[in-house]
Amino acid sequence: MPEGHTIHRLAARHRALFAGQTVRVASPQGRFAAGAALLDGRTLVDTEAYGKHLLHHFDDESALHIHLGLYGRFADGELPAPAPVGQVRLQLSGARHWLELRGPTACEVLDPALVAALRARLGQDPLRDDARPRLAYDRVVASGRPVFALLLDQTVVAGCGLIYANEVLFRAGLAPVTPGREIGARCWDELWDDLRALMKEGVARGRIDTVHTAHTPEAMRRAPRVDRHGGEVYVYRRTGQPCLICGTAVSRGPMAGRNLYWCPTCQPGSERP
Ligand SMILES: [Zn+2]
Repeated sequence: MPEGHTIHRLAARHRALFAGQTVRVASPQGRFAAGAALLDGRTLVDTEAYGKHLLHHFDDESALHIHLGLYGRFADGELPAPAPVGQVRLQLSGARHWLELRGPTACEVLDPALVAALRARLGQDPLRDDARPRLAYDRVVASGRPVFALLLDQTVVAGCGLIYANEVLFRAGLAPVTPGREIGARCWDELWDDLRALMKEGVARGRIDTVHTAHTPEAMRRAPRVDRHGGEVYVYRRTGQPCLICGTAVSRGPMAGRNLYWCPTCQPGSERP
């Protein structure tokens, strides 16, 4: 599933292509026909990302809400738009560009009250300047759940996905099983700042890189990582490979229904039940 940096990139791209324009909206597949009819001919005012949720705001204060889920994907290009092939949920065109959406988990029109309700149930997004990390910390320190699970809980931290959660804990030298209630305020501030910096870099690069300068392939004279998820990382999907810092084999195990990766040496305390 795309992590928050991907959704923020999409919001920026859609703003650049369509903001301020009157748009035509259709649902070639038909499953979004009623919603498309509400938006067709309106002006797309602005776009924003909130965690893994994308919003297109329109001039009547309605918003198009999209969550890509596992299978959703966008395509765009210069007009004329190609004839829709297959299951195109949404087709949107502006003055010069078209946009196509397939396979999303959510594609719906929300009124302002529903947008407010969506925001209210989401946690703090490290990529948003209006984020309030202390509100997230209040949730963390009140919980006995592992910090790994709390980072992935979209009602605590919005937009953090599996790669960032694993990597930011490694970089902090923190055992992923550490209960939220044992995380000190300063520790949380450092985790948050690092997560925000990593995710901002992800927005800029369009891929997730989490290794410090000293651990890049060039600095270590090693081959670049080959993985369809791309990016240079410390532990994510590196099970059994040597830790880039200490050489210990990277471990993997299930937690909160997700794959947890860690270095038993750099993240002491990980082995406790
Ligand atoms: Zn290590």
